[in-house]
Amino acid sequence: MNIKVCKFGGTSMADGNVILSAAKIVKAEEERRYVVVSAPGKRFGGDIKVTDLLYACSDAYENGDKKAFDEVYQKIRTRFMNIEREIGIDLGLETALNEVEKEILGGAGQDYCASRGEFLAAKIMAAVLGVPFIDATEFVRFDENGLLSDETYELAKKLFAKYPRAVIPGFYGLGADGKVKTFSRGGGDISGSIVAKAANAVLYENWTDVSGFFACDPRIVNSPKCIPELSYQELRELSYMGANVLHSDAIFPVKSAGIPIRICNTFRPEDKGTYIVSASKRKLGENIVTGIAGKKDFTVISLEKSMMNSEIGFVGKVLSVIAKHGISFEHLPSGIDTMSLIIDNAYLKDGMLQTLIDEMQEIANPDRIYTHENIALIATVGHGMANNIGTSARLFRALADANVNVIMIDQGSSELNIIVGVDNDKCNACIHAIYNEFFA
Ligand code: ASP
Repeated sequence: MNIKVCKFGGTSMADGNVILSAAKIVKAEEERRYVVVSAPGKRFGGDIKVTDLLYACSDAYENGDKKAFDEVYQKIRTRFMNIEREIGIDLGLETALNEVEKEILGGAGQDYCASRGEFLAAKIMAAVLGVPFIDATEFVRFDENGLLSDETYELAKKLFAKYPRAVIPGFYGLGADGKVKTFSRGGGDISGSIVAKAANAVLYENWTDVSGFFACDPRIVNSPKCIPELSYQELRELSYMGANVLHSDAIFPVKSAGIPIRICNTFRPEDKGTYIVSASKRKLGENIVTGIAGKKDFTVISLEKSMMNSEIGFVGKVLSVIAKHGISFEHLPSGIDTMSLIIDNAYLKDGMLQTLIDEMQEIANPDRIYTHENIALIATVGHGMANNIGTSARLFRALADANVNVIMIDQGSSELNIIVGVDNDKCNACIHAIYNEFFA
């Protein structure tokens, strides 16, 4: 039988009623055999995700502030006890919550603490569906470098052979030190993708609170078009640049196995959603551009040196400075005698920008170094642009007409993505202009 893996995000697990809707979705198709869940998320604007409460608990514990710990843990208790009440069956949550509290107070660590939202949510979903619970620590394994270990798939395959159906908590696994280790935030999407690959699924359904992937952020453009289909690469480019429907690392496991992802809405299960497929299977629709995404708060560090083109090792020296400080760069546009590094502002706090400039001056001896702070990067993504002459002309005309000054341009040789850098305060105007040109 074909297997589908369903992953339910935080808003699909936020209260007892929505958990019952999610369970109904699972039961509607026999093929939906493995279910991965997130911790209960926000129920309404201004609500706090259980994972955020758990991080606050861990901080309170680390600071030795028992009063703050008790206050936050009480909120977590109330969230889960309300879920039990709404579902209307005894799920044994009181005992489970007592055990979790004991472990945290016994020093189980931040990742253990953060992971308990998923752990308890999976226990709930398993009880509601009446299928076995498999703890993610039984197969999701990290190596000494914190990367996913290949052992994960061997272990998962053995488990899945034994359990044809199961509910699994997302977001965590077991570290090389034998302790619980989490992925980065939103990592439940990665867990779902791993399960889909290990189960050899025909489809990875990612259930969330929107009916698919929009052509751009609906907080910027009113009711943007929903993208019916995009490729793994298009998704990677868009999610890396801030389109946050799916964790940007979640595509790798399913991509290597050629398993399509469907983004679907727990609150409107009848909507088709967005399918993410390999580039070779992707049918190009009428749009040249598939989507637009933008991220703010980057800095450009530019270096000028006469005859830079013939100085062997110049770029290497400059890059060695950022590597030494554990900093990665986003883009590296270059000219004959110039090069620029685009770096996320998050790396440049507490005087780091000046440190980098001083060290680059010292090691590479450029004629001039200058910076342009607080820029936004906007990516216009689509396989369609490769076959359509004039796409960049349309894009830059639209930006000029909208009075947006372009500070930087980067187009990878894949012809999949044109990235422009503009001042932070022009970010939304830039996205509007591009959307209106290609979609309106
Ligand atoms: N609960 C985790 C978070 O809030 C992971 C997830 O939801 O995927 O980041």
